[in-house]
Amino acid sequence: MKKLCLGIESTAHTFSIGIIDFEGNVYSLINDIYVPEEGGLHPGLVRDQHLNNFMKIVNRALTEAKISIKDINLIAFSQSPGLGPVLKIGAWVARMLSQLVNIEIVGVNHCIAHIEIGRLKCNIKDPLSLYVSGGNTIVSAFESGRYQIFGETLDLAIGNMIDSFARDAGLNHPGGPKIEKLALNSNNYIQLPYVVKGMDLSFSGLYTAAKYLLQSEDYGIKYNLNDVAYSLQETAFGMLTEVTERALAHTEKKEVLLTGGVAANKRLQSMIKYISKEHDARFEVVPLKFAGDNGAMIGWTGILRYQAEGRHEINETFIKPKERMDHFTIPWRT
Ligand code: AMP
Ligand code: MG
Repeated sequence: MKKLCLGIESTAHTFSIGIIDFEGNVYSLINDIYVPEEGGLHPGLVRDQHLNNFMKIVNRALTEAKISIKDINLIAFSQSPGLGPVLKIGAWVARMLSQLVNIEIVGVNHCIAHIEIGRLKCNIKDPLSLYVSGGNTIVSAFESGRYQIFGETLDLAIGNMIDSFARDAGLNHPGGPKIEKLALNSNNYIQLPYVVKGMDLSFSGLYTAAKYLLQSEDYGIKYNLNDVAYSLQETAFGMLTEVTERALAHTEKKEVLLTGGVAANKRLQSMIKYISKEHDARFEVVPLKFAGDNGAMIGWTGILRYQAEGRHEINETFIKPKERMDHFTIPWRT
């Protein structure tokens, strides 16, 4: 039987278990996603849901893969970055299983995992990556032994910004797909703050301005939600595209990878595809099953790390909620 890794994702809304072999074949992937009834992600409530459900998710993943926990050779978990109380649940589950069943354990960085699953599933070698999700907005590429960050958000993450705006507009979570749909009904662009600072992005002014347009009675003008949704997307995605293109020109990479939950957006895909073509770079979107947070990407990155550097000791498995992806050297790529 092939060697198997059980990957545990637990950085934010999604508790996920993926079972993957050392060649990259995924046997099962089970997600349990916290959906807030109102407001944003309350870390305490997310933690409770993950704590209540983890064993069910582990068992479903094992059943679907038609194996028992004893068949697992390695346990990988998301160690950084993320919401502290939520990260802890994944780390606890990993440590408990590792010690109960005597399986080697390895912690991985969640952002690096988004890129590694993209390299695996899109069969590309050395991409410039745009990682856009509920909690992250990062343009990165492999340079000098690390995944260097060329651009990132200075405040809100793109997914969180769109979800917050959608919530203000009375739409329920997640707002991203609903805003995408509304935007298709308009091509009436309303000027909104476009903020790129060097290679970094800021979405908070854009968010506030779009929110004020919704309350536009104050200005005596009635704005249509379709027009605001369209303008919000055009502005935010234009900013992302500008920074991605600049990083592409600088790094001269020949592949571009779009990943994270917001990668599902067709308008964003078409913008990034366009600039990739302009620079003769191959464009790939991570298959949607693996684009959002998932345990398979954690498992795969755990395998890469384990093969290059070996296991972690239990006293090395504490969570690091703020650790950045450029903190790590990447031995499996050098
Ligand atoms: P993740 O954090 O990677 O699991 O992705 C979740 C985020 O992706 C949420 O903010 C969603 O609103 C966002 N998202 C999902 N589908 C779309 C879409 N079609 N357009 C924009 N955002 C989306
Ligand atoms: Mg993510």
